Amino acid sequence: MNAPLPRNITNVNVYNDVAKVSNEVAGQLARNLATQTQGEVLFSNADKGRYATDASIYQVMPVGVFVPRRIDDVKTAIDICRDLNVPIVARGGGTSQCGQTVGAGLVVDYSKHLRSILNVDVDQRTAEVEPGIVLDHLNAALKKHGLWYPVDVSTSAQATLGGMAGNNSCGSRSIAYGNMVHNVLGASVWRSDGALLELGRYDQASGDARALGDYVKTLSDELRPELEAHWPKVLRRVAGYNLDIFNNQSEKPYTPDGSVNLAHLMIGSEGTLGLTRSLTLKLSELPRTKVLGVVNFPTFHKAMDSAQHIVKLGDGTLTAVELVDRTMIELSLQNPAFAPTVRTALIGKPDAILLVEFSGASKADLIPKIKQLVELMGDLGLPDSVVEMMDDAPQKNLWEVRKAGLNIMMSLKGDGKPVSFIEDCAVPLQHLADYTDGLTEVFKKHGSKGTWYAHASVGTLHVRPILDMRREGAAKMRAIAEEASALVRKYKGAYSGEHGDGLCRGEWIEWQFGPKINKAFGKIKNYLDPINLFSPQRIINPPRMDDTRLMRFAHSYKVIPITTALDWSAWNVQNNPVTEQTSAPGTGGDAASG
Ligand SMILES: Cc1cc2nc3c(=O)[nH]c(=O)nc-3n(C[C@H](O)[C@H](O)[C@H](O)COP(=O)(O)OP(=O)(O)OC[C@H]3O[C@@H](n4cnc5c(N)ncnc54)[C@H](O)[C@@H]3O)c2cc1C
Repeated sequence: MNAPLPRNITNVNVYNDVAKVSNEVAGQLARNLATQTQGEVLFSNADKGRYATDASIYQVMPVGVFVPRRIDDVKTAIDICRDLNVPIVARGGGTSQCGQTVGAGLVVDYSKHLRSILNVDVDQRTAEVEPGIVLDHLNAALKKHGLWYPVDVSTSAQATLGGMAGNNSCGSRSIAYGNMVHNVLGASVWRSDGALLELGRYDQASGDARALGDYVKTLSDELRPELEAHWPKVLRRVAGYNLDIFNNQSEKPYTPDGSVNLAHLMIGSEGTLGLTRSLTLKLSELPRTKVLGVVNFPTFHKAMDSAQHIVKLGDGTLTAVELVDRTMIELSLQNPAFAPTVRTALIGKPDAILLVEFSGASKADLIPKIKQLVELMGDLGLPDSVVEMMDDAPQKNLWEVRKAGLNIMMSLKGDGKPVSFIEDCAVPLQHLADYTDGLTEVFKKHGSKGTWYAHASVGTLHVRPILDMRREGAAKMRAIAEEASALVRKYKGAYSGEHGDGLCRGEWIEWQFGPKINKAFGKIKNYLDPINLFSPQRIINPPRMDDTRLMRFAHSYKVIPITTALDWSAWNVQNNPVTEQTSAPGTGGDAASG
């Protein structure tokens, strides 16, 4: 009666195959979900279209969308999908930049109804939450206790805790608080066979959780020399699975006391190992006050070279060192909403600025830190380069501009847009200036240019080369990625330092870790999800990053000529990334007139 989906869902053509044979199965799936759960069942083309994209360049039509109303609806959906052999792609806010949440299965959207705070223990500073809760909502609720969840991603208004866990997200203040993995104490997770795993400390685990821990420990111990040889030794590394929980390789160990927490296996697993029922989080005390020093640099290279010295000012009070480059400064100055704020941070016309934040108990305690920063910059040959922001309001305004960094960057006019695919490589700080110089040369060679911003404190700079994905973008993307990866290897960095693997970096996992560790990742997947129900072809057996069939601008993409009622000619231009010249309004050759 029901045409089955292909058994081998790791087949490279999985997306096409599922899409072709799914009509009957989709009908059955929708009926089963509607009759056996209380969730919303969305299978119209408009609904599927809404969920076919995320914040990446990719686009894949799902079989359908399910919005569970109660957490146990998720378990029922797993059982139904297992019976019908339909893959499941979990989704929170859908703000992933690498295509983690697009896929031709059933998309399960946690963000609408599954957003309760189940428990807050103020004394122990912990909270248990449903995965669909948005970070800003959680922090608003915690404020009255003087607590917060400190993994402060820029998408805090949209990102869910489940999605942040899925991606092992990292905030601007990770130098002080660590990444998601450092701030999760427990996870309750469904496997694809429907069993619920309670994951926490390994030394207290029993039953299935203990067996999982033993299995991964054996894999990790056997591969210890490989881990030591191939695992990037930086704070920011989010690729693959956290096989090193048993043999720590990170600059910042996963737990302060060296214990092993099995929930950490799920962090960064991108929905491929299990679906989260709840998360137990480690909370932090809200900083009482902050001060900000904005360092203005005459050259980008000098800013990058200075970061390694600035982080040494940290004695527990340094909470952020964030970069904003000249392109972003100029784009912000062209935006009436941001211009007045940006001007408060500038001395003349800097090539880059670093936002250096200290947090502590009182302004009086922190003023000496700003003085130290000023002295340091003088020693580094840059006297009078620091704008001192002691009051809260101007600091808050400037952080809003920094948080809007990507939106500001995307306001660039012309068909070429900043594209995300090597946007979060992390290198040790002493190599940051050489790495950014090297990558700038790579961009030039390919007729492009990168705009740089974000986490200088931990060597993770967001950079997006400007490419036209409607034309030759995909081909250039691969060439640039290959040269960027060589630089990452030269400086012993992590190819994926913040945003995860998804569709665009999955194929680099084996490159980064080598075949033996990659095989062990496959074994972990097979142990927890042997039927490959959860997000197939993510992390294990990924597609090529430049497979245009999976992109928004596929080969078949055509611009439809339209005549607009409003004048968009200012956007109908071409922008040359190398010369930085923009052609005259109306000359961009866009059939849609801009
Ligand atoms: C403008 C912009 C700025 C950004 N800034 C940052 C930043 O500062 N720091 C940073 O780290 N990232 C950043 N990102 C990336 C992204 O916002 C983060 O990774 C974010 O935490 C993802 O949250 P989400 O709810 O949107 O997750 P989604 O994108 O919906 O999902 C993320 C992953 O988690 C999985 N998942 C979701 N829910 C569950 C669940 N319940 N069970 C199992 N798996 C699940 C998904 O399948 C997917 O693999 C940024 C992205 C954009 C577009």
